[in-house]
Amino acid sequence: MNQFLILCKQAIGAEFVLTDEVDTLPFVTDWRQRAVGKTLAVLKPGSSNEVAQLVKLCVQFSISIVPQGGNTGLVLGSIPDQSGKAVVLSLKRLNRIRNLDTANNTMTVDAGCLLAHVQAAAQQLDRLFPLSLASEGSCTIGGNLSTNAGGTAVLRYGNARELCLGLEVVTADGEIWDGLRALRKDNTGYDLRDLFIGAEGTLGVITAAVIKLFPQPKSQLTAFAALKNPEAAIALLALAREHCGAMLTGFELMSDYCLQLVKKHFPQSPVIFSSEYPQYVLLELSGHDTEASTAETLEKLFALAIERGIVLDVVVANSLAQSQSIWQVRENISAAQAAEGKNIKHDISLPASHIAAFISETDALLSQAYPHCRTVTFGHLGDGNLHYNVSAPENTKDTVFILEQGKINQLVHDNVHRHNGSISAEHGLGALKKEEILRYKSPLEIQMMRSIKNALDPQQIMNPGKVI
Ligand SMILES: Cc1cc2nc3c(=O)[nH]c(=O)nc-3n(C[C@H](O)[C@H](O)[C@H](O)COP(=O)(O)OP(=O)(O)OC[C@H]3O[C@@H](n4cnc5c(N)ncnc54)[C@H](O)[C@@H]3O)c2cc1C
Repeated sequence: MNQFLILCKQAIGAEFVLTDEVDTLPFVTDWRQRAVGKTLAVLKPGSSNEVAQLVKLCVQFSISIVPQGGNTGLVLGSIPDQSGKAVVLSLKRLNRIRNLDTANNTMTVDAGCLLAHVQAAAQQLDRLFPLSLASEGSCTIGGNLSTNAGGTAVLRYGNARELCLGLEVVTADGEIWDGLRALRKDNTGYDLRDLFIGAEGTLGVITAAVIKLFPQPKSQLTAFAALKNPEAAIALLALAREHCGAMLTGFELMSDYCLQLVKKHFPQSPVIFSSEYPQYVLLELSGHDTEASTAETLEKLFALAIERGIVLDVVVANSLAQSQSIWQVRENISAAQAAEGKNIKHDISLPASHIAAFISETDALLSQAYPHCRTVTFGHLGDGNLHYNVSAPENTKDTVFILEQGKINQLVHDNVHRHNGSISAEHGLGALKKEEILRYKSPLEIQMMRSIKNALDPQQIMNPGKVI
């Protein structure tokens, strides 16, 4: 192995080949600290050519590669296993914005650019790059594309796949595929770009991307609505779509228990309503006209929703600061739940028409099997994406309850499957759901995925043990 490391050092410089355990620890530790892997070395190339040279060396020495961006992934996809035989290939030094084309509304960026930097670069041009996640200060464009990340703006702009026009990829045999096309129409055979998006580093290494930009909205208004149940939230979503069209850019559901947790663990959070209600929706409208016209649309929507008995009460943020503090309540739910103790998470998606039935059925099944367990239900309802998390009953130790994880996952995921949903809406499969997915995808679908993997990575060196 010495020879391999010597050649890696020659290719990218000795300071970019980390082997000391202290240096490699952050790269092998999962974001949520659930797992710590082992690695032969962390390699930090500075260009696509260097990535290609390193992949060729890995092929030559039969060493597997775990590509890594910001290491914020939530399914154990970005860290190596315990074998210590894989290298971590960190893309973070590939962080240049290569090209800005305002006439074409596109930007070409290196894969290691932080999402927040890309958003800021777009803003400087008076453009919007709408992908938005709570991890945006740490995650990278390459990671976003490899996980087909979602976030809060999917409802209006789509997920990472829909925001990408072209890719540059270092293939599993170390060739550089230049697919950096900035075209909105290109029907010239199989869509190779789409194969690498969402592949979680199992087919090749994304080194750059052409991403889509949009006009910056002229006004943005946030409202927080109180509702009696998830059915009402679905009715509000339909009404908002009909009434506001493309102005609707955010629609987040959260149960009262989510709010109680946020209040408990973030006592400085704003008090939005003086009374408590069973469910809440955070709704955002973005307008390209004046703020007054966006406000008028919002007012009409809620007048109608209250008249029809869909909404019980509503608060519209009257300043940017109030809007930010309402969003902060939404963003703090995960942290508040973590502060309450360990919990069993599910990142699922369902057709909107099934969501209310799914929640009431699954809540009932869980409380039958685990009386008084607590469900923390929130998510990007506009995309049919729920974070359906389960915590221990108040009198049970979370470390004991967590032992039920396998059974609870199966109960929840079986019901997701019955409702034609997905067991991974936006986080991917990684190592965490690799086995679980076999229960829900048909053997034919798994076989087609295996064929693609074998065709593009015949030596099986790309991110082994993940996805498939
Ligand atoms: C607080 C928090 C909030 C989050 N919110 C959301 C959310 O709202 N929506 C959402 O979708 N996700 C969310 N995530 C999950 C995570 O941030 C996303 O999955 C993100 O896209 C991962 O980007 P990354 O650069 O950190 O990738 P990493 O974690 O480094 O890698 C993720 C996967 O992609 C592969 N990979 C990374 N870079 C490359 C590359 N250049 N080429 C090939 N493969 C690569 C890795 O091998 C791994 O399988 C959240 C995470 C946190 C911690």
